[in-house]
Amino acid sequence: MFVRTLRLAAFGAAVFGTGLLHAQEGPARGPAMPPNPLPYDLLLVNGHVLDDRNHIDTDSDVGIKDGKIAKVAPHLNSKDALKTIDVKGLYVTPGLIDLHTHVYTGTGEKGSYAGDLSVYPDGFTLRNGVTTIVDAGSSGWKNFDDFKDKIIDRSRTRVLAELNIVGSGMRGSKFEDNLDDMDGKLTGDKAKQFPGVIVGIKSAHFTGPEWKPYDQAVMAGNIANVPVMIDYGARRIERTLLQLVSEHLRPGDIYTHCFSGLRGEQDPTTGLPSEALLVMRKRGIYCDVGHGGGSFAWTVAAPIVKSGYQPDSISTDLHVGSMNNGMKDLLTTADKLLALGETIPQVVAQMTSHPAHEIRQEQYGNLSVGGIADVAVLSVENGKFGLVDMYNTKMFGSQKLVCQMTIKDGKIVYDLNGLSADMWDATQHSADERQARRWTVFNERPFGASHGQRFPTSTPVGAPPTNATPQSQDKAIPKK
Ligand SMILES: [Zn+2]
Repeated sequence: MFVRTLRLAAFGAAVFGTGLLHAQEGPARGPAMPPNPLPYDLLLVNGHVLDDRNHIDTDSDVGIKDGKIAKVAPHLNSKDALKTIDVKGLYVTPGLIDLHTHVYTGTGEKGSYAGDLSVYPDGFTLRNGVTTIVDAGSSGWKNFDDFKDKIIDRSRTRVLAELNIVGSGMRGSKFEDNLDDMDGKLTGDKAKQFPGVIVGIKSAHFTGPEWKPYDQAVMAGNIANVPVMIDYGARRIERTLLQLVSEHLRPGDIYTHCFSGLRGEQDPTTGLPSEALLVMRKRGIYCDVGHGGGSFAWTVAAPIVKSGYQPDSISTDLHVGSMNNGMKDLLTTADKLLALGETIPQVVAQMTSHPAHEIRQEQYGNLSVGGIADVAVLSVENGKFGLVDMYNTKMFGSQKLVCQMTIKDGKIVYDLNGLSADMWDATQHSADERQARRWTVFNERPFGASHGQRFPTSTPVGAPPTNATPQSQDKAIPKK
């Protein structure tokens, strides 16, 4: 998918301004990239690596080749890589995983999470260090195929899904309270057809007194061997949270909106974790943040987290209603846990190895050698930052995580400050631009024919070639 029009320069002069450089995808054009005989395509040096899965919390270099982590060790040699980037003073972590998002947009349905309330993933993920997200139940077995076609198959972000126990998905109470559209067998069978893509079952927003949504969700989870994530809907005395977590859910299931305080998560007298929360943890049911527009209250999170009850995973519940209010994005949500006393290695674990474990996709969320090279490079700003909750109240934090660079499948997909970029007035590339597609998705300036010229010229499409033969353009640029 990364084959682009980069070698257009081989057919003529530079193509600035033609618009062709902006083509995102397309058939292979021009000569194939020469093989890379070096041990690494891309090398990140001098960073501080945080990899909870492999118990790494130390200064180290990271070598990447062919989309995989090739080596994690101090003092790797830049001569062994096509491209080396100095990330001194920055954290190098696995690509972040957001366990709770809503991204089934593009259907045109108003007021629906299978529509206008969802967002397109790539606009919100890569710039935040997030390489993998889970859509939490926006689609059900009836519309999953449409979701897959519209979003999963077209996004640069890795999009996984929890299938809603409601066959029609998350389309409002008319659908989400319809007990007749909750079929554990059909939902489980659908999930089974997409292993590694459908990674869970979701129940959400149910307002009735019945247990059916939860029990059908667990049935589907058993059929497909995936966990269930619960948004516990309306609080009902007929079905308490304590009953849910002690009698209905299984170890390995996920309770999201853990710090909303809306369904009995907090002991009303002490402010500490309720018995239900304690039972959850004892049974191995995971506590997921799922911040959203209405599911993270300081009055709940502060006493519970400060008592030592930390979330297993930090997630956003990203949707049009949460991203511009208190929640904002995954790193801002992590800043809130930092403000409550968690450490940077802890919050990074809660956005990498922990969520990968919860959805049983342990190939993600780590920097294991041979594993997928999804990487986030993060900086920490120190200052006074107002962090806003669901009630528009704030707590001040002193640390703010900022995504400087995101790498997905071994290629740079976001680079806030141009860490990978050459200077605009450089006379040659710092790395062989013919090999650039091995480590970035961005267009490298096609010096090629205009190499050595101060100002590149552009030739209209269709004009006969004027200067430079393809051979001369393909001359290797010596590596510094
Ligand atoms: Zn949600």
